[in-house]
Amino acid sequence: MASERKHILVIGGGVIGLSLALTMQDAGDCDVSLLSTCLPSDPSSSATSSAPPPSPAHYASAWAGAHHVSSAMNERECRWDRETFDVIKKLAGPAGQGEDAEGPLVWVRQTELFANPVTTEAERRAQEVLEMYPNHAQSRELPQPWSAEGRAPPFDAAHHFDTLDFDVPRYLPALQRQFIAQGGRLLRAPSPVTSIREAVEICDGDVLGKRRAGWSRVQGVFVATGLGTAELSEMKEDRANHFPVRGQTVLVSAPWLELRGDDDDCSGPSRPRWPALSRTNSCGERDLYLIPRSRGQYIVGGTRLVGDDDPRPREETTCEILARALAICPGLVREDKRRAAGGQARGEDVDILAVNVGFRPGRKGGPVVQAAGKDMSARAGGQGEDVQVVLAYGFGGYGYQNSWGAAFEGRDIMREQLGLPVMSHVLERLTSL
Ligand SMILES: Cc1cc2nc3c(=O)[nH]c(=O)nc-3n(C[C@H](O)[C@H](O)[C@H](O)COP(=O)(O)OP(=O)(O)OC[C@H]3O[C@@H](n4cnc5c(N)ncnc54)[C@H](O)[C@@H]3O)c2cc1C
Repeated sequence: MASERKHILVIGGGVIGLSLALTMQDAGDCDVSLLSTCLPSDPSSSATSSAPPPSPAHYASAWAGAHHVSSAMNERECRWDRETFDVIKKLAGPAGQGEDAEGPLVWVRQTELFANPVTTEAERRAQEVLEMYPNHAQSRELPQPWSAEGRAPPFDAAHHFDTLDFDVPRYLPALQRQFIAQGGRLLRAPSPVTSIREAVEICDGDVLGKRRAGWSRVQGVFVATGLGTAELSEMKEDRANHFPVRGQTVLVSAPWLELRGDDDDCSGPSRPRWPALSRTNSCGERDLYLIPRSRGQYIVGGTRLVGDDDPRPREETTCEILARALAICPGLVREDKRRAAGGQARGEDVDILAVNVGFRPGRKGGPVVQAAGKDMSARAGGQGEDVQVVLAYGFGGYGYQNSWGAAFEGRDIMREQLGLPVMSHVLERLTSL
């Protein structure tokens, strides 16, 4: 019966908010609204270095790479990564042939390097988590095209496996489209709401004003506001824990890196089309990554500057990123340009499409997915009934690979709070993007 349906509001239109919204819709017994200042339909990584980007840098989801290469530090994050990988494998469907077959999820052949001296702990963890990926193998040999010039910096261990990359400018809007197609209500907040209560009032007002048949007042709220969480009045005790982690990346075109069936390892059910690379340095930080998107575009990164909130791209950082990448992948520069430069792969010869800056939503203590407690539920409900509040933020540099697993956990908590049966961690309605 319509009156028994629950109305859930998600605050935040990033990958976490959208994944939560879709998992709640998937259960079939909830109506879902999503309210946000930034939305996936806003233009993002088409920006060039000379024009200010339309999406602000603190909308992390617009600026991510984004690859799924787990570096989970504990059992919970490992579960999120595994469950996310299971969902995106299903959403990607069978690998197709040709350019037109590429969807918003892209199969890649990943090489993950561990620079020396790799610690036993880091190696053990990597071995454990990276085994989740198809065709996982370990060797000290670098495959093509990374081995092309034999100039790779020293490394202790190399893991090779197939994984999926999120083609962000296509993946995020695809989530938004699915949300609307499944009956979701999208509300753009012209400016950031200052409290959870304000978001609930906007949403309730919208439901009543438009007399949306069968929709009740909001009964549950997810707070998926990334770095914006610190600005919500109910969250002031957690305010000091939030910080930006600045990441600058370079979007380049290098379609000639495509794997070929005859001499590259692109066999197997996943049929990876592009080679991908990342390197974890001796401090355990990923200081280099090449993340393929569709049509041979690569996100090359990256930097991780804690507390730096300058949204403008820095020329010297671009040069450093390209120098690191070219040391291991001179093939990022087209062969004829390298020949013309006497065999050198120079940064100025890279086909740069954009230089991007985004802020990962860092949080002391790591990501939060939990019920907010009675006080906050009472405040969010105002004079009326309590509204159940579930918090989901602070995903730092891993929000994409955590997304579906974290959303299932958030859904479990919300359903339990609302007295609804808890469901298994699979998507029933959403089968492709
Ligand atoms: C350069 C870079 C590379 C990355 N690479 C990867 C990668 O390879 N793999 C990976 O898994 N992750 C990666 N990440 C991390 C990933 O992007 C984030 O963890 C993820 O996007 C966080 O999503 P979110 O939904 O929590 O936050 P966001 O994407 O920031 O979304 C927050 C949303 O809340 C809204 N909002 C905030 N406050 C308010 C308010 N007061 N009122 C209304 N709306 C509000 C915002 O408008 C926005 O829509 C990368 C990030 C960067 C910057």
